[in-house]
Amino acid sequence: METSQSCKEHSSGNEEQEQEVAGLPHEALFLVLPYLPLLELLVMSEVCMPLKDAVKKDILPWLNIIVERPLNLRFSDEILMKVASKANGRLKTLALINCARITDNGLQRVIDENPLINKLHIPGCTALTPDGVISAVQKLCQHPHHSLKSIQINGIYNMKKEHLETLHSYLLTNQKQQQVQRKQKPVLYHNYSKFQGYRWEELGRIVDVEICPKCNEVRMVFDCPREECRRKKRDQQNCSLTDCRMCKFCIPRCEECGRCVQLGEMEEAVCADTLCSDCWILLSKCSFCNKPCCWQHTNLQVSSVGSSGWICCVCHDKFLSSDDVEH
Ligand SMILES: [Zn+2]
Ligand SMILES: [Zn+2]
Ligand SMILES: [Zn+2]
Ligand SMILES: [Zn+2]
Ligand SMILES: [Zn+2]
Repeated sequence: METSQSCKEHSSGNEEQEQEVAGLPHEALFLVLPYLPLLELLVMSEVCMPLKDAVKKDILPWLNIIVERPLNLRFSDEILMKVASKANGRLKTLALINCARITDNGLQRVIDENPLINKLHIPGCTALTPDGVISAVQKLCQHPHHSLKSIQINGIYNMKKEHLETLHSYLLTNQKQQQVQRKQKPVLYHNYSKFQGYRWEELGRIVDVEICPKCNEVRMVFDCPREECRRKKRDQQNCSLTDCRMCKFCIPRCEECGRCVQLGEMEEAVCADTLCSDCWILLSKCSFCNKPCCWQHTNLQVSSVGSSGWICCVCHDKFLSSDDVEH
């Protein structure tokens, strides 16, 4: 681990440095801590005593809790309570990305102790219910000094139109928030998964999901980067017929560039994802089946010995023995 190494380096250096390690950690450490991802912060607090103390005493690093992969898989209500308690009730960001083990109860307990959370981002927390989310948001918004600016709830099951309306009624009460909402930037499909949950509010959205104009479900609705679609949107002509602003279930989108893809122009990829023909042409392809992989699935490429190209894992399993290739 890098942190334990630097600790050892310090202690094998000159005497001054040794004292530093034994005594107080370097001041610069306190500047760095707030920027560390949660996993590294937790690792650091276990490395050696001075670091443990530094991380424990400093509240700043714990004010923004962002739980992503790989930590999300093991993140339970109990761990959340323990980590959140380090903020001493001053938690500002609670971003739990795909934390399927967090329950309504766990969320409520953290909210009760941290009423000043301003970003509540809980996409893909599949154990949470719409009612659990509503009562958490209600609690935050009813606090006299409440500062809740944005919520991200994509992937919470059974979220209905009525639930979304209730959430809006709590969130959009002040004028300032409505102004933010009006400055919305487009949300593009291919950027969505790259966009880290806690930076969501940069897009000027208060709530990530909306009602899809086509299927009427509460979903992520994406804007289109395709030039014709943007032009149509600007002209606002035949909007109802041509507008492709829908959820991903209502219109397929290219995994690489995010534009809408009509049925006839869909191209095949090694992964089951959709690609437009422009992106398909540009991507490198399997030497056997001539299919590319999207940016998310380059792990399906297996490099073959003695050739500059690659073959996909499907062709590899079908045609080649494991002796001929290396990963
Ligand atoms: Zn839809
Ligand atoms: Zn494309
Ligand atoms: Zn489009
Ligand atoms: Zn192949
Ligand atoms: Zn893919």
